[in-house]
Amino acid sequence: MSIKNHDRTPAEPPHDCTACARLSAFRATNAQAHPDWFNGPVPSFGSGDAAVLIVGLAPGLQGANKTGRPFTGDYAGDLLYTTLEKFGFSVGRFGGHADDGLELRNCMITNAVRCVPPQNKPTAEETRLCGRFLAARIAELPRLVAILALGRIAHDSTLSALGHRKSAFKFAHGATHMLNGRLTLFDSYHCSRYNTNTGRLTLEMFEDVFAALKAYLAPL
Ligand code: URA
Repeated sequence: MSIKNHDRTPAEPPHDCTACARLSAFRATNAQAHPDWFNGPVPSFGSGDAAVLIVGLAPGLQGANKTGRPFTGDYAGDLLYTTLEKFGFSVGRFGGHADDGLELRNCMITNAVRCVPPQNKPTAEETRLCGRFLAARIAELPRLVAILALGRIAHDSTLSALGHRKSAFKFAHGATHMLNGRLTLFDSYHCSRYNTNTGRLTLEMFEDVFAALKAYLAPL
């Protein structure tokens, strides 16, 4: 099944996107306080021929919103990029900043919501509005066969982007869902500091998801 981008939404929102009033106001406030930070919708990072798309929640204030690269500059990214390296999805050294020279292989990282939300919490409406960019991102990866959702919001956003009802596929850590003839959705708890500190997500649990993803890709 091919996924179409009927309204030709760009896969990456413009730096001055105003789709969400609250998020663009927050960006403006941050840009005033920290003019040297990225302070925009953080573009997806990775290869255009990716078989795997990793969907996070939203940029962290002092992580991706500052550095301009998803999961770069905060704890969640340290864990994610270390795991990507271990499973052969990256080459080069992750240095925690956007010009560390790291490249992703066969994989791309994006966020359900591209702008940093106050208190790390996007509203349901912001998530819905940003969904058209996720749908476009997915549509513009011709070799995509798997999506890894980090957390329930990423899972639900992916389902909505692909036109599925949320009730059709239930989020569960370690679950895999055949969405259609082409795409399989893998679920993991988000690799946030909160989830790892509380023991909700262990390193072993996270690596098990990547092992399943690799096993799925191997025969393809
Ligand atoms: N950084 C991101 O870009 N996304 C997340 O979900 C968390 C941190």
